[in-house]
Amino acid sequence: MLNSAAAARRALPSIDRLLKLEAIGGLIDQYGRGLVVDTFRALLDEQRALLKHDDVAAPDDGELTRLCDERLHTATKASLKPVFNLTGTVLHTNLGRALMPQAAADAAMIAMTRAVNLEFDLGGGARGERDSHVEGWIKRLTGAEAALVVNNNAAAVYLTLNTFAMRKEVLVSRGELIEIGGAFRIPDIMTRSGCKLHEVGTTNRTHARDFTEAIGPRTAAIMKVHASNYAIQGFTASVPETQLAAIAHEHELPFWVDLGSGTLVDLERYGLPHEPTPRDAIAAGADLVTFSGDKLLGGPQSGIIAGRADLIARIRKNPMKRALRVDKVTLAALEATLRLYSDPDRLTSTVPTLRLLTRKQSDIQAQALRVLPALAAAVAGRAEAKIFACSSQIGSGALPVDALPSSGIALVPLAKRKGSAAEALSNAFRALPVPVIGRIKDGMFILDLRCLDHEQEFVAQLDKLATAGAMP
Ligand SMILES: *Cc1c(COP(=O)(O)O)cnc(C)c1O
Repeated sequence: MLNSAAAARRALPSIDRLLKLEAIGGLIDQYGRGLVVDTFRALLDEQRALLKHDDVAAPDDGELTRLCDERLHTATKASLKPVFNLTGTVLHTNLGRALMPQAAADAAMIAMTRAVNLEFDLGGGARGERDSHVEGWIKRLTGAEAALVVNNNAAAVYLTLNTFAMRKEVLVSRGELIEIGGAFRIPDIMTRSGCKLHEVGTTNRTHARDFTEAIGPRTAAIMKVHASNYAIQGFTASVPETQLAAIAHEHELPFWVDLGSGTLVDLERYGLPHEPTPRDAIAAGADLVTFSGDKLLGGPQSGIIAGRADLIARIRKNPMKRALRVDKVTLAALEATLRLYSDPDRLTSTVPTLRLLTRKQSDIQAQALRVLPALAAAVAGRAEAKIFACSSQIGSGALPVDALPSSGIALVPLAKRKGSAAEALSNAFRALPVPVIGRIKDGMFILDLRCLDHEQEFVAQLDKLATAGAMP
């Protein structure tokens, strides 16, 4: 036996000989020589180890080539790829938040593949300012005197604190000391930006006198954080923005509102719940307002700081602005998105985020009826598929309490242990070529169809649903 294993090991080809095979030439053309050599080397090492223990025959050239091809295919598949977001959360941070308008994608493509006047003033032929491409639109849409853009809203908050409050204090209501997913906590960001947080009032109630009494020689600003991902209900009180602005200005301090989502249009015009806009905050007396580009605005990941020209100029001079600035692709996409806002009547068709948020329940239900038979067939013997009235959320912190009536399909497992059966269904849908992400609730796997674009692609791949776990 030992001898035959040794013979099998000796029968393994050398890399040099493998690389001369005709079929391998094709792999080298496709994947590059380096990857092919590395893959073969790893394969041969594994085979040698296997042959040490088992009395098996060495794989022939054809088999080795097939294994190599399979591995290269898996190893080089794109890691970042499309999925179906059927979670019911329109702005899902883990699924990439806003889908960008076609106009933004077109503009981004040009900025990616051609030289552009990013920081070049075509009039004077001199150096230009990269934010100038979007500043005009932001001013127009918010009523601010000036604006700049950074990598995301967390960066906008950091940069604002770091510019005005390093080694000083910022007053914030205790009810607004928020954590937004991952590791973005207002208190932590304050520490990192070198400023001290001065909490004012209590979790549920904060009054004007709490602020006036807290102002001292080290106070640098008053900040209001929009309670974006939670709601405090019951016995509550907070100080209106106009009053906070008045208190700040009386003491010659800037008043700043961190809106988070910050939609540029009044959502009520589309029958959605009201969400404060940067224009509202500035009209109420805010000297600065910060908000995200990829939440309700529906554009690329970015953070916008808009407000008084003298304050924006100071932020622009902060050396950290350079570290947090956006690239040409983001600027191109943001400019194209902002331009769409000049025609508010068409926003529900031009900006996907607003299109998805304003989809009517009847329209979503009609789609659910269309895809129901294919889904029912795909899970036959395993689960029952039925139309399910559900509610979607905006996500990314906006309007945490208000839910949007939606429709979808519930897959109810036939197995006794509903929980693990729903889990198995969820796994199978995630393993599809274009993974489908839903949610599990009460032992059901639920697909909210509000965000189902590419319906045909969705239906066409259902026959690939793994049958593991089917009822016998
Ligand atoms: C989302 C949010 C942030 C962080 O914004 P990003 O764009 O995710 O960096 C900051 N403040 C508030 C109030 C938010 O809702």
